[in-house]
Amino acid sequence: MTTTVHGYPRIGPDRELKRACEAYWAGRGGPADLDAVGARLRRAAWEAYAEAGIDEMPSNTFSYYDHMLDTAVLFGAVPTRFGRPEEAEDRGAELDRYFAMARGVQDTAPLEMTKWFDTNYHYLVPELSPHTDLRLAGNKPLAEFTQAKGLGYLTRPVVVGPVTFLLLSKPAAGAPDGWSPLELLDGLVPAYAELLRRLRAAGAGDVQLDEPVLATDRGRAAVAEFERAYRALADEPERPRITVGTYFGPIGTEALEAFKRTGAERIALDLVSGPDTAGELAAVSGLGDADLVAGVVDGRNVWRTDVRAALSRLSTLMGLAREVVVGTSCSLLHVPVDLDAETGMDPALRARLAFARQKLDEVALLGRALKDPEGVAADLERARADLPEPEGFRNAQVRARLESLGKGGEERLREGRWNSEGEPQYLPTTTIGSFPQTEEIRKARAEHRTGAIGDQEYESRMRAEIDKVIALQEDIGLDVLVHGEPERNDMVQYFAERLGGYTTTAKGWVQSYGSRCVRPPILFGDVHRPEPMTVPWARYAQSRTDKPVKGMLTGPVTMLAWSFVRDDQPLADTARQVALALRDEVADLEREGIRHIQVDEAALRELLPLRASERQAYLDWAVGAFRLATSGVGGRTLIHTHMCYSEFGEIVGAIEALGADVTSVEAARSHMELVDDLDRSGYRRGIGPGVYDIHSPRVPSADEIEAALRTALRAVDPERLWVNPDCGLKTRGYPEIEPALRNMVEAARRVRADL
Ligand code: GLN
Ligand code: ZN
Repeated sequence: MTTTVHGYPRIGPDRELKRACEAYWAGRGGPADLDAVGARLRRAAWEAYAEAGIDEMPSNTFSYYDHMLDTAVLFGAVPTRFGRPEEAEDRGAELDRYFAMARGVQDTAPLEMTKWFDTNYHYLVPELSPHTDLRLAGNKPLAEFTQAKGLGYLTRPVVVGPVTFLLLSKPAAGAPDGWSPLELLDGLVPAYAELLRRLRAAGAGDVQLDEPVLATDRGRAAVAEFERAYRALADEPERPRITVGTYFGPIGTEALEAFKRTGAERIALDLVSGPDTAGELAAVSGLGDADLVAGVVDGRNVWRTDVRAALSRLSTLMGLAREVVVGTSCSLLHVPVDLDAETGMDPALRARLAFARQKLDEVALLGRALKDPEGVAADLERARADLPEPEGFRNAQVRARLESLGKGGEERLREGRWNSEGEPQYLPTTTIGSFPQTEEIRKARAEHRTGAIGDQEYESRMRAEIDKVIALQEDIGLDVLVHGEPERNDMVQYFAERLGGYTTTAKGWVQSYGSRCVRPPILFGDVHRPEPMTVPWARYAQSRTDKPVKGMLTGPVTMLAWSFVRDDQPLADTARQVALALRDEVADLEREGIRHIQVDEAALRELLPLRASERQAYLDWAVGAFRLATSGVGGRTLIHTHMCYSEFGEIVGAIEALGADVTSVEAARSHMELVDDLDRSGYRRGIGPGVYDIHSPRVPSADEIEAALRTALRAVDPERLWVNPDCGLKTRGYPEIEPALRNMVEAARRVRADL
């Protein structure tokens, strides 16, 4: 009985990776300094495995930026705009090209970045064309294997597999229409074979090729290609044993059958996401003489494993493979490094949690328990689920209220309008919520947090900021104002800090992309709202102007998507609890005379399940939660929502069903085409297509915004059209946003004048 894991956080316990990369980018320190930090971080992971007693260690799970980018470089998929690698190039040039692909340089755009499956990790999308010359062009897996070997650890290098690599890549500009990167598969397999040969020659007994794409519909449609590629690799005479790594859901019986025909020795399956993996395994009568890495410890959430349940699950798997290895469901990249850093946390809550380091102990414990149940009886006792409840875990009142509201709580008392009395009938102007987060604002928040300034001083500084933002918006001539969100560190964390059943961590950092890390709050119990969260700021802002001020909340789905969420009840139930808290906040805002209330659902599409068959159920509860949060308002209040993207495809129906009177979306980059799409798909509510791209420092002219509005008007009636930028302004500076908003208001005036 052995144990293993898929990988460990790369960032280090104190975000050492972030600091090292940022120092390198800023020219402080050269390639040798960066490489020294990389070597130390890799070594620390192997030492953590060794200390926990993990039998089989992975390598090549470290990355300076992203493992898909590493794979692209490994196989020579470097677009020509980043220059041609020279023979015997120095390390600095190599690193600079790598980071240019990740981040761009002056006139060279980086690779596109997108979400890694349904996680909050982002990868860089390789660009491939029929002419891309895929070959083994690097030696990172070999170098990391060799480093570990030098330290006395014989590791299993992990590399993104060929099918996943190609299916997650995109056709480069200029690739023929309808061409798919998967067409490169037969050319790519020999490069993988070459890598396997070299690893074998260096002493590797095992290699892992990750094919998480098999858990998606796209991957399931490519099972034949998967089989062909792995048969070819398994046919290599001089190679390590191959483990096919899969995670993020069941891969289906077809892929399991195909795997059995390939001749690869082992497959890793995720037994945490999706309930039917064990059933699928039974349905194909097991793996025959192949081995199974059973991912029973959740690599994506922060809860302690129910060790007894995991053991009984493992025992049902025993007959279904030649050998069963205990493992994590996926890489531990998605959880924070070490719970021991959370010294300030309620001990009862901490007892329920496991971060990456603690999960290693769980995997090791499960391995020992299978070998010698008697020997670990005491540990198993301690791991039992009947731990004391953390403070604020249960809230009977919330449960009772949700029960009595039932489905009826989702019925809007009246149907929406698209605009409100007192504002222009056509094309009212507004913004998405945040104004630039200046140095002074950050300083005030930091000083308040550390206690350097008291509540009163903090409030007066925030109020001064609100005064400034309101006065500016009046001067610019916007119709519906905002308070600017100066008090918010983050749109989820701000609310998590004010809701019961939620906690935040001191050092629970998780990599989002490259050097960017986030600290997701932990939703551990029944969510409730001890007191209003935004009302005093909204009230104050409204008191400073005769124009309407829009209230600003984060929606239930987004609150869940960017947090670690309890796994002891369905997400749908948890979403309803968040929604109830928001419903009370909405009611309080309305009582204060706030007539526009925006509930942001930036993550509505993000949480969409990987497999189409699960999507409708998700959209049903997601829409229900939004409606529960917003449907209590009376006839004079307008509900707005905002989403930061424009690919609505499958969720158009859901957007309509949300019942928001006005939806603002990203549209600038798609040249307003989306307005047409939305309209054709039957969307009939108010729409605020972002008229300019706030992600760029460029100031748009009134002419171009006017043109965008006229384009939008070809598809929607003027009473449904709102005018706004495409996202919040917090990442921009005043020198950019002020002229941009003036041009926006001017453009709206011109178009209105013609109506
Ligand atoms: N109201 C938020 C803001 O303006 C919305 C942010 C977002 O959609 N990501 O900052
Ligand atoms: Zn946005």
